[in-house]
Amino acid sequence: MKVYINGKFFAKEEAKISVFDHGLLYGDGVFEGIRCYNGVVFKLEEHIVRLFESAHTLMLSIPLTKEEMIKAVTETIKINNLRDAYIRVVITRGQGDLGLDPYKCKQPIVIIIADKVALYPPKMYKEGLEIITVPTIRNLPEALNPQIKSLNYLNNILAKIEAVNAGYQEAIMLDSMGYIAECTGDNIFLVKRNELYTPPQCMGTLRGITRDTVLELAHNLNIPVHEHVLTRHEMYISDEVFLTGTAAEIVPVVKVDGRTIGSGKPGKITLRLIEEFRKIVCKEGVKI
Ligand code: PMP
Repeated sequence: MKVYINGKFFAKEEAKISVFDHGLLYGDGVFEGIRCYNGVVFKLEEHIVRLFESAHTLMLSIPLTKEEMIKAVTETIKINNLRDAYIRVVITRGQGDLGLDPYKCKQPIVIIIADKVALYPPKMYKEGLEIITVPTIRNLPEALNPQIKSLNYLNNILAKIEAVNAGYQEAIMLDSMGYIAECTGDNIFLVKRNELYTPPQCMGTLRGITRDTVLELAHNLNIPVHEHVLTRHEMYISDEVFLTGTAAEIVPVVKVDGRTIGSGKPGKITLRLIEEFRKIVCKEGVKI
């Protein structure tokens, strides 16, 4: 494997950065997780826009233009001879001293890793997931806005620990008022009477690229969508629940907090969206 660091490619074992990097010391940086399907990098431009937006708020200046970043991503996939890949783009603040001051870090580090896709078990899509809500609430947007896809993922990691400790793979995180925000690495949708519901961004959710794609697909299929405040009760009595994310794609959820959702099997709207999603992944993106 060859890893891109600031314009050069290094063998995996040689791909190293400083222990004084503020990405390591403080989680000071941003990242993106991207998928390449049969030589097409799905929604690459959208991922790069989100990366630059996250960096903008952190006043972290990425030393490449968006076009150069797109080229660096496609080159990294090509040099690794991959057609189906999971790509991680990481921008760190760079090397500083042990103090917090980000302005002492003069050279941000751009890292691009392209790896084989670790696919989730097919059983998960066929039978659906069982998940739980966890005590750790999602970061307050006024404190650390979940829209910023930063290297500081401890909020999500705490929730993931609670899920795994309880024997589940994924957790629903609530906001400070107890409304549904999102999962540790996925957005969440409910289906009720053939209409889609998902929490709005102001609830402390990341604006997922897969979420946006599902909103587009639903629009094309004439399925009404509501971005709405959602309670756990509304989730328990919904007909279908599913999660969306770059790695997981669209995953049906059949049980939440011990409550069976709908028929207890992946629902028809979820399955229809999965079918439509699979059709477009090789089409909508940047060819390598
Ligand atoms: N929420 C969180 C907290 C995430 O980390 C992710 C994955 N990046 C998502 C939602 C889903 O976003 P996307 O569809 O862009 O992968």
